Amino acid sequence: MIAESVVVAALEILGARSALLHGVKPSPHGLVSVPVAWAVRGGISSTTDIDHLDLDENLIAADPLLEECANSSGGFASVQEDDHLRLAFSISQANTTVAIFEGLCDGPPSEALAECVRELLSIYAEHLVLLDYAELDTLTKLNNRKTFDENFDRFIAIAEQAQRRSTDEPITPEALAAKHCWLGVIDIDKFKRINDNFGHLFGDEVLLRVAEVMKRSFRGSDKLFRFGGEEFIVLLRFVTAENAHLVFDRFRQAVEHHEFPQVGQVTCSMGYIQIDPSLAPADILGRADEALYFCKENGRNQINRYETLVQTGLIEGPVAPASNEDLQADIDALFD
Ligand code: GH3
Ligand code: MG
Ligand code: MG
Repeated sequence: MIAESVVVAALEILGARSALLHGVKPSPHGLVSVPVAWAVRGGISSTTDIDHLDLDENLIAADPLLEECANSSGGFASVQEDDHLRLAFSISQANTTVAIFEGLCDGPPSEALAECVRELLSIYAEHLVLLDYAELDTLTKLNNRKTFDENFDRFIAIAEQAQRRSTDEPITPEALAAKHCWLGVIDIDKFKRINDNFGHLFGDEVLLRVAEVMKRSFRGSDKLFRFGGEEFIVLLRFVTAENAHLVFDRFRQAVEHHEFPQVGQVTCSMGYIQIDPSLAPADILGRADEALYFCKENGRNQINRYETLVQTGLIEGPVAPASNEDLQADIDALFD
């Protein structure tokens, strides 16, 4: 909502034809931008529905205007294109570009109006800092535990929507399989030993680096959380079972092969499950936890899918709720 208001206000100040706010974040290939909100002269505006669209992440380097803006010390760049001028203002935190405002104008704005936009964007930057403070874990900068429940509920709704849409429309089994959503619970193996042998500071460094490996291993549309001390959660969406396994195991291997300063090798285990929207969130989480527990009991440094463990009889499946007849039989037995 605030992003949309900022875009509309900046559009008005500049008298722009259209305006777009890009979120900017690092990726393995360099900075990428993701649309956050947009507005068009005449009163149409919107925030992008980041949870329901598969938004493209665009490499900043692929757009000379955005790249110049992100790298310029003044945080501004412009380019004349056909009959309009494209302007870009960067929004920074601690000298790092975290967002870019882009406007299409008839001509260059006066210095006073440009300054006005800069002021507005710096207020928006403050707002982003507060949001981060409330929602991110201070050590790892992953989403914190507090934000998990809300995000998880939304993720389950996405899974449900994808399923419903696929029953309404004719869809191939392959396309349906590509719509699955997943939850993975990660726990660092023998972490207590790391703290005991090297001290808490090195323990914290391991947490930080595991979080960095996570950020590199998953896509921007996946949600990453620090769930507890050395427990993390990943929510993946729209991936086939085969790819979910590949992606999760690639992360496990990346941790295994990472050289942790002083500590050397660290491994982690993960239990994961396909998100079945008909289940209660606590049950989905509980089952992924059971799969994680299985990893811990069977050598650690591995990943296991809950459903596979149940199908192969390695863990007991969910206990079916008692039928009315069974309940009646229990009651009868009590009074016998
Ligand atoms: P397992 O392979 O079974 O998971 O063994 P473990 O030692 O990792 O298991 P456990 O969950 O019992 O230990 C987790 C330890 O993590 C306990 C606690 O001292 C440590 N820990 C929790 N939060 C933090 C933190 O923020 N920083 C540091 N350095 N250590 C933490
Ligand atoms: Mg633990
Ligand atoms: Mg552990």
